[in-house]
Amino acid sequence: VLGLAVTACGNDSAADRSSTGPNVVVTTNILGDIVRQVVGDQASVQVLMPLGADPHDFALSAKQADAMAKADLVVTNGAGIEEKMQSVIDRVAGDGVPVFTFADHVTMRGEDPHIWTDPLTLEPAVRAFGERAATLAGVDAAKIATQTATYAASLKQLDQSVRGTLAAIPADRRVLVTNHEVFGYFAARYDLRVLGAVIPSLTTDAQASAKDLEALAATIRDQHVAAIFAETTKPTKLAEALAKEVGSSVQVVELYTESLGKPGSSAATYVGMVQANADLIAGALGA
Ligand SMILES: [Zn+2]
Repeated sequence: VLGLAVTACGNDSAADRSSTGPNVVVTTNILGDIVRQVVGDQASVQVLMPLGADPHDFALSAKQADAMAKADLVVTNGAGIEEKMQSVIDRVAGDGVPVFTFADHVTMRGEDPHIWTDPLTLEPAVRAFGERAATLAGVDAAKIATQTATYAASLKQLDQSVRGTLAAIPADRRVLVTNHEVFGYFAARYDLRVLGAVIPSLTTDAQASAKDLEALAATIRDQHVAAIFAETTKPTKLAEALAKEVGSSVQVVELYTESLGKPGSSAATYVGMVQANADLIAGALGA
């Protein structure tokens, strides 16, 4: 994991040096892809979280904190997901570095920070980011406006595609059991029911109790749930333990929850990632 992280950071730095324009620093790699699609060649984009990073527990290096302090614009998810970097974000914002927070531009579900799991929830924030990026010094605002419109349209297409993919799941099987409570927005949009989570919390920085797992296993058995959805950013051992506790043929399927997939994989972009998750969910829950 460390090797991958170092490689990913190295690649980002190399790409940054060859780019021009204002310097945009983005926290999560999911938002990093979105920001790159919107700004195109009009800004240099540095993404702080490498592939596989869990945004709840990722902490900045001193060098990354310095990059944030020198940015022309810092882009965050917000709503508390950047738990271990929030103090640095607050400090650079206090020092006058502009910060654009995606969560400030969406309709929130309570305090759930996982806004990217539903492309339509995210779409207004993408448009707001495009408007903000177009005001950066030295950019071609018209070009960014065009790129923003194109990308926002691709999110609407993604929604239609996901809807079509998930239509294959019968009503009585539209149930999600996940590793932590990450798919609230996705479930609400696509008519799925979140039955429970191995870690019954909106953060991965919480504990699963043996008693809770036993109760969840019983519910999974009673309702003949076909799959437990683990996540690529966390070990699958808790989900495997739950599957063992269920004791039937329940599958453990890893989804791309809080990080993009590797370059060249179907989940290497945000749009690809959401579709890949829909394909995996339909594959696991479909009749
Ligand atoms: Zn989370």
